[in-house]
Amino acid sequence: SKQIVLKNHIESGTPTLEDFEEKTFEFSIEELKNEEVVVKLEIVSPDPYMRGRMTTRKSYIPPFEIGKPIVGYAIGKVTKAGSASKYSVGDYIMGHLPWQSEFIYNSNSPYANKIDTTLAPLESFLSVLGMVGLTAYHGLKEIAEPKQGETMVISAAAGAVGQLVGQIGKIKGCRVVGIVGSEEKIKYIVDELGFDVGVNYNSPTYKDDIAKAIPNGVDIYWENVGGVVSDAIWPHLNKFARIPLCGVISQYNSTEKDVGPRIEGYLLKTSSKLQGFIVANYASKHAEALKELAQWYKSGQLKDRHTINNGFDQLVPSFLALFKGTNTGKMMVKL
Ligand code: NDP
Repeated sequence: SKQIVLKNHIESGTPTLEDFEEKTFEFSIEELKNEEVVVKLEIVSPDPYMRGRMTTRKSYIPPFEIGKPIVGYAIGKVTKAGSASKYSVGDYIMGHLPWQSEFIYNSNSPYANKIDTTLAPLESFLSVLGMVGLTAYHGLKEIAEPKQGETMVISAAAGAVGQLVGQIGKIKGCRVVGIVGSEEKIKYIVDELGFDVGVNYNSPTYKDDIAKAIPNGVDIYWENVGGVVSDAIWPHLNKFARIPLCGVISQYNSTEKDVGPRIEGYLLKTSSKLQGFIVANYASKHAEALKELAQWYKSGQLKDRHTINNGFDQLVPSFLALFKGTNTGKMMVKL
């Protein structure tokens, strides 16, 4: 069996392969307790928020423990089940699982659930029908409240959350503008997902391009990135704009405190609402959200692209690649 452990906390800067260790060991089961199962890890979701757990900073979720396997959203298959286990052999479970190829798991843990594999392909439970889909859904419904005809701008628009936010924006009748890091990603969001316009923040004319893309200003800015990418948006906020603050990935590896044009003035004079959130805030509404997400997915209104890498040795590189933008749609690793 193999596992990936964190060798040291990384308080700032960009993590490297050397910060992680792949350990190989003999996996043997001496005794399986009644409520326990053996799980084989199948598909793993490397997520940007995991960067925060690699520091010792206080947050909504504790730091990873040094020398212990990394834990993150993943799908595993039950290969053995204790006599009183909630799961049966062959079941797939999704939730917070260790980056370890095989492990013993308490089936009563609230951090994983059985998934209904008849609903959608397995991968979708780490994307549109998982944490990522719920993030897009709740952030839009609870904070953005999109209305027909409004302009919605999204940063990291071709990524896991961004691709879904923009498509739901279209379902709600918005004019949707996506900010991405390459021309290929513009093609993806416009030609395949139906966004109205794509803007490349790596272009030297980014600020002008964004101004041209939003002649009627911005009613909703979905913040995934922060820093200079969003600085270009603040001067264009309309009165009563809403800004779901989902993430600031451009800052997660930064070695200095963020500085930039102060945004308070823009918020104040437009009476805009900026609200940070984490998807777990809305746990009581997950079931209802998943119903609607599944309907949109089934009807083809919500497409769900993934970037899939294969093999245990791709876990860490795939996580690191999130900060380079090599993924389109949800980054995943199949084992
Ligand atoms: P993505 O699939 O969007 O992958 C990350 C993308 O971010 C990359 O593909 C890249 O796209 C872009 N990016 C990376 N570094 C930079 C940079 N320095 N400047 C600009 N763009 C950059 O990830 P997710 O959809 O999983 O996450 C998106 C955001 O949502 C993150 O900030 C994450 O932390 C947050 N999040 C928050 C949740 C919550 O509950 N609040 C839950 C889930 C995610 P490109 O090529 O376009 O640059």
